[in-house]
This record gives sequence, structure tokens and C-alpha cells, in this order.
Amino acid sequence: MTIDLRSDTVTKPSKEMLEAMFSAEVGDDVFGDDPTVSVLETKAAEMFGMEAAIFCPSGTMTNQIALKAHLFSGAEVICDKYSHIYLYEGGGIASNSQSSVKLLDGEKGRITANQVKAAINNSEDIHLPLSTLVSLENTMNKGGGSIYDFSEIERIKSVCQENGLKLHLDGARLFNALVESPEEPKNYGQVFDSISICLSKGLGAPVGSLLLGNKDFIKKSRRIRKSFGGGWRQAGYLAAAGIYALDNNVDRLKLDHANAKTIGDILRKCSFVKDIMPIDTNIVIFELEEAWTNAEMLETLKAKGVLVVGFGPQLIRFVTHLDFTSEQLNLLEKVLTQIKK
Ligand SMILES: *Cc1c(COP(=O)(O)O)cnc(C)c1O
Repeated sequence: MTIDLRSDTVTKPSKEMLEAMFSAEVGDDVFGDDPTVSVLETKAAEMFGMEAAIFCPSGTMTNQIALKAHLFSGAEVICDKYSHIYLYEGGGIASNSQSSVKLLDGEKGRITANQVKAAINNSEDIHLPLSTLVSLENTMNKGGGSIYDFSEIERIKSVCQENGLKLHLDGARLFNALVESPEEPKNYGQVFDSISICLSKGLGAPVGSLLLGNKDFIKKSRRIRKSFGGGWRQAGYLAAAGIYALDNNVDRLKLDHANAKTIGDILRKCSFVKDIMPIDTNIVIFELEEAWTNAEMLETLKAKGVLVVGFGPQLIRFVTHLDFTSEQLNLLEKVLTQIKK
């Protein structure tokens, strides 16, 4: 048995999700007449109390569309140094938006309103790029799945408003944060100018992300999506999986979080573990003792059927998801507790 904890993207559609996909009513979404895509976009927009949404193939695309829609040549986006938009999107901020980035040194990937305030350039000084956008990530992948305190987000919003900046959320794992927080999706919709959410992470859809915003923003986004080659035809089959995911797979994320905490408890007893980041959601990042290299640990685990990823020197990441069973958890405990040098 292979235990695949490389990411929460490795899940395969369940029988019920596949049935929803097979029976979807579809049309040509580039002509705007795929009914299932429309249902999904409307559903998501309403859920967050935002005006409109656009369904796209990936979270990288929804983020990059949002950045391009907000930014312009010579603008600057402010974000944490560990942001997905900066580290893991192929340098898209430069190539797609011709913009500069100001990286902040947050706490587990979370930046504060004071840091943002101090990072805004004087727009009268022609030497400096024009501060235009702040981008947050919640949960924060490289921060070990950490969750933003919503009151800090509100303070960041105030700083943005005072200085004429827009606020974007990379919410690839926003539902992981929502199930652990008192806030509702609509609270997020009120604060952010644009929100990207992924259906293909913890929610278990095979493909797809949504970008939310006001009508004009989404209209602009539709044009950008086309230029990125992201206009798709009978996408309703995939939208049906997304609708199924939103209806059925949100609340169960808590189980992924409980599983991640259990893995943390097991790792704490293992001799090869030096330190573990706090586990707030479905991501477990731990540091290896000096006796081990990253490559050695990845190989050792792989030989025992456990797939995970290296996340920097001496760092390993496990991500729990809906295809990770209790049987796999038991087996994982056996594997981990047997690893010794
Ligand atoms: C996965 C992820 C994305 C988008 O990834 P895609 O693989 O392009 O869908 C964006 N932001 C974060 C934080 C992610 O974890």
C-alpha cells in the first residue's frame, strides 16, 4: 500500500463525485453557455457575498490573473517572503505583470498591518515602484498551514484603504482556515478585493480553482484568462466536481486536521525528528536531526511506501487529505516508529 502525503492535491474523485461529473449538463464555456460552470461560479460568489466568480484550471492561474488584473508595469505587490505567488508560480509576477515584489518577514508566513504600513512606498518618489496591492495567503502553506487572525486581516485592510491599495487573498486552503475559525466566508468577501480558492486541494476535486471579485474585476479576469490560454469548453464536467466538493467536502476537513495532529504526536516520539512546526490544519512540517539528510529520509520513507516532499534543507512536509484512511494512519505509525539510525 502506498501512503501518499506529498500534497492534498493527490486525491482522486470518489464514486459519488464521478457520478456528479458524468451526469453534468454542459455547454461551451468560452461562449459563456456552460450551465454547470455558471452554477458553480454563482454558488461560490454567493457563498462569499461577492458579485462574481470565474472558474479556472489552477490556483496558479487564478492568482496570476488576479495579480495581472490589479497590477501594471512598474507596480509593486507586498507579500510575505514565503508566499506561493512569489516562490511557486514560475516567476509569474515578473513575466505576467511586469511588477516588483516587496517581501516581508512574517511570522510563519503571516504579515502584520504594521509591516504592511511600513512597506508602502511614497508614491511621489519617482525612484520607487508604485505600491499597488497586498497579497495574503490563508492558510499559509510554507508557514505549516498556519491560520491568520481575522482581526489582523481587518487591520491590514484598513491600511490598504488608507493608502489606496487593493487586497488579494490566495485562499488555496481557505476552507481549512474557515473550519477552524468563527468567521464565515462572507466575512472574507467583505474584506478582500479578490479571493482565489482551490477545489483541487483538500476539497478533493480533480481540477479547478475559482477567482472571486466584483463584476468589473471578473470581466477583466475573463479577458486575462483567455490570453493565458485558460478559456475552456465543456468545463462543466469539472465544475460538477467542484459543486460536489463544496457541498460535501468542507466540514470533513476537520478530520484531516485531526489526522495531521496525530501524525505530529507520532513524530514527536521519533528519534530522527529535531523539531515540528505547530500543526494548525492539515500540514505537518518537521525538521530532521543532523544525522539525517533530506534525501536519505525521503528515500527511506519511499522504500516503505510513504511519499512525502522535502521542504527546504532538513525540512519534510506531510499533508493529510480525504484519501488518507485510518488504515493508512496505523500503517504510517508503524513505519515511522521503526525508522532508526
Ligand atoms: C496549491 C497552491 C496554489 C495553487 O496551485 P495549483 O497547483 O496551481 O492549483 C496556490 N497557493 C497556494 C498556497 C497553494 O498551496
